[in-house]
Amino acid sequence: MSPGPSSKGDDPIKALAAGVASPDDVLAHAHAMESEAADRYHELADQMEIHNNPQTAEVFDKMARIEQIHADKLAAMCAERGVTRRPPWEYRWLDPEAPEVTPVEEAHYLMTAPQALKLALHNEKRALAFYETLLAGSPPDDVRALAEEFAAEEREHVSLVEKWMADYPDIDPHIPEDPDDAVAH
Ligand code: ZN
Repeated sequence: MSPGPSSKGDDPIKALAAGVASPDDVLAHAHAMESEAADRYHELADQMEIHNNPQTAEVFDKMARIEQIHADKLAAMCAERGVTRRPPWEYRWLDPEAPEVTPVEEAHYLMTAPQALKLALHNEKRALAFYETLLAGSPPDDVRALAEEFAAEEREHVSLVEKWMADYPDIDPHIPEDPDDAVAH
């Protein structure tokens, strides 16, 4: 298996954006990101059920449905245009709270609601950053139009998650350091 975009030094978002030259490329990336998001939201919803936190489970269920609808729509557009799928490792959600940033499925699975919301926020912001990076690169008009549309959707997801975070007044908006390092504070 080939490794992901090599991490050290280069910005993975910039590296991804650099590979986008056409509207089909944007669609392929958007589809991969939305599918990944839908899967992860389903997982987070399950985890909140395990934690007997139905309120937050419902929130993630709702996000999963939103992302799934987009993913299905994009899958149909990609199929219609004969766009090939992108390797899924490029879009893995990452857990910024893990000592080294690791894909979510390798991270601890017993999360509290605030931790899960922070994870979601981080990854929604990452998706938004991808489209903003594209737009910052003065793309052709057809690429720009799609990137603007998808950036607007991600911006909406970011503000939805932020709104839900407000229900946890004690939430620390910053990504905490590894607990083992916290003594240095
Ligand atoms: Zn999103």
